[in-house]
Order: sequence, then structure tokens, then C-alpha cells
Amino acid sequence: EKVFSGFSKTRENLAVVDELLLYWNLADTDRVLDELEEALLVSDFGPRISFKIVDGLREDILAGKLKSGSEIKEALKRSVLQLLTSKGNKSDLQLGFRKPAVIMVVGVNGGGKTTSLGKLASRLKNEGVKVLLAAGDTFRAAASEQLEVWAERTGSEIVVAEGDKVKAASVLSQAVRKGKEQGYDVVLCDTSGRLHTNYSLMEELVACKKAVAKVIPSAPNEILLVLDGTTGLNMLPQAREFNEVVGITGLILTKLDGSARGGCVVSVVDELGIPVKFVGVGEGVDDLQPFDAEAFVNAIFS
Ligand code: GDP
Repeated sequence: EKVFSGFSKTRENLAVVDELLLYWNLADTDRVLDELEEALLVSDFGPRISFKIVDGLREDILAGKLKSGSEIKEALKRSVLQLLTSKGNKSDLQLGFRKPAVIMVVGVNGGGKTTSLGKLASRLKNEGVKVLLAAGDTFRAAASEQLEVWAERTGSEIVVAEGDKVKAASVLSQAVRKGKEQGYDVVLCDTSGRLHTNYSLMEELVACKKAVAKVIPSAPNEILLVLDGTTGLNMLPQAREFNEVVGITGLILTKLDGSARGGCVVSVVDELGIPVKFVGVGEGVDDLQPFDAEAFVNAIFS
């Protein structure tokens, strides 16, 4: 399976769990759980979640509910799955019934927004959805051209800014109007991603959201935050900020084919209470997959 082939480091870090649990006995519980917690920490689960998981296991062991290493391992996998799915397991896009549905992607530069949007266009087209792309990253010079390449590759129509000083909000609003007038099913909106600490980016994103809602009050239907999986726990502060300012409805975690550490997927879902909708597993057109929490857990604890 290509989907979670990239977590070799995580798998390596967590392989110690099997060794630990193989020789587990009740008297050894504290030491084993300490080492298990350490393995979770180095896999980027973060201190709070690592503690929470291990504490739950300890309770169940002491209560006599877990009696063997393999039962502990299964309980560990269950608790990670629970963390990933407790705040809603809705990985499908929520597009409502009013057409066109509007999906915005947001996130810092280099995270994989434009690429993910292109791959998403391809997925939707394959499902027979009529897609319009909107080049809302008017800040990064090459972003529009990059999205135009994806439009060509996927056979999608695209709306780009005409002229230099056109605001992102006006490109998106124009695209949504066109989408409405010409019977499109979905408008996919790219946005700018210059440094997230730059207040004006957040202002711009809010303006984009408002501009879209002015054309269709129920839009945007989805605001997907694109996060680079290789940045590990560093993704948390930026994710929080985007969520506070624009309100994120789902996550796209990219570059999971690389050196991503699996634990941060769990951390970010737990911290934000927002489901992962898609994962990026490569640069090709088919390398955006719906997130399958169970497959993910099986992959990192394989
Ligand atoms: P943006 O600035 O957020 O729009 O980021 P881009 O879409 O331009 O992506 C930045 C770089 O990351 C590009 O070279 C992409 O090809 C690459 N990239 C995006 N998603 C993935 C992924 O899932 N896996 C890999 N390996 N590379 C990716």
C-alpha cells in the first residue's frame, strides 16, 4: 500500500513497543509503560497525548482488564484510533446541496496547497464532478501558473486574476459567480500562504471568505487547512492560528510519503478537534487519498 508507506521512522520508533510488550509482566508494568511513553514522544505524539494514552493503559492493566502484551498492544492501537475519530470521523467532503459548493484551501507557503488543490480537482473530475479552479494565491508569483498547469492536466476550467493588483477576494468572488452562472458543481479556491504571522494574510483570508459568502450565503462549504506532515509538532501553533481566524473544517496532511512522523497526525486532530480529510502521499496526480484512520493506525504499529 502506497498510502502510508512513508512512516518508516515512526514504524521504527514504535517497533520497540512489540519488544517491550513481548516480555511484559505485571511487576514490570511501570518500566514498560515509561519506555512506551518515550516511544510515543519520539514519534511526535506530544507530551499530553503520550501521557494520556499510557495512563489509560496503566489503569486498564491495574484493573486486570489487560492481561498480556498483545492485549496491551491492541488497547494501545484502539486508544490511538479513538483519539483520531472521537471528534468526528467524517473524512468525506461536506458539500451541501446548493451549487456550486465552494472549497477553500489555506495554509503556509510550501505546505502543498496548490498541489493538493490540483490533485483534488483530479479526484473530483474522476467522480464526474464539474470543477472550476480559482487562482486565489495572487501573492506568490508562480502560484497562478502552477495552478494553470494543474487545470490543463486535469482538464479543468480556471479563473485567474487579470492584472497585477487584483485582490484574491475578487478573484474568488468572480470564480464563484461564474460557477453559479455556468452550472459548476464545485469551485476549488487556492489562497495565498505568505508567512502566517503576517496579520494581513489572515485579514485577506477573512475577506476571501466573506467575498465568497456574498455570492452564495452557505459558502464556503469547506475550508481545508493544508499542513506539511514533515514539520512535525511545529504545525500545531500555525494550525491553531488559522483555525481561530478562519475556522477550519478539515485537514489535508501532505508529504506523508516522506519523513513525516506519524504521531503529529494524532496530535493535530486531538488539539484542533478537526478531522483529517485527505493525505498527500506524493507529487503525482493520484497522490491525494482520503484519510483512513484505521489503515493509518495499522501502518504505524505494524
Ligand atoms: P503551496 O505553496 O502551499 O501552494 O505548496 P505547493 O503546492 O507549491 O507544494 C510545495 C512543494 O511540495 C511542491 O514541490 C510539491 O510538489 C510538493 N508536495 C506537495 N504535496 C506533496 C506530497 O504529498 N508529497 C510530496 N513528496 N511532495 C509534495
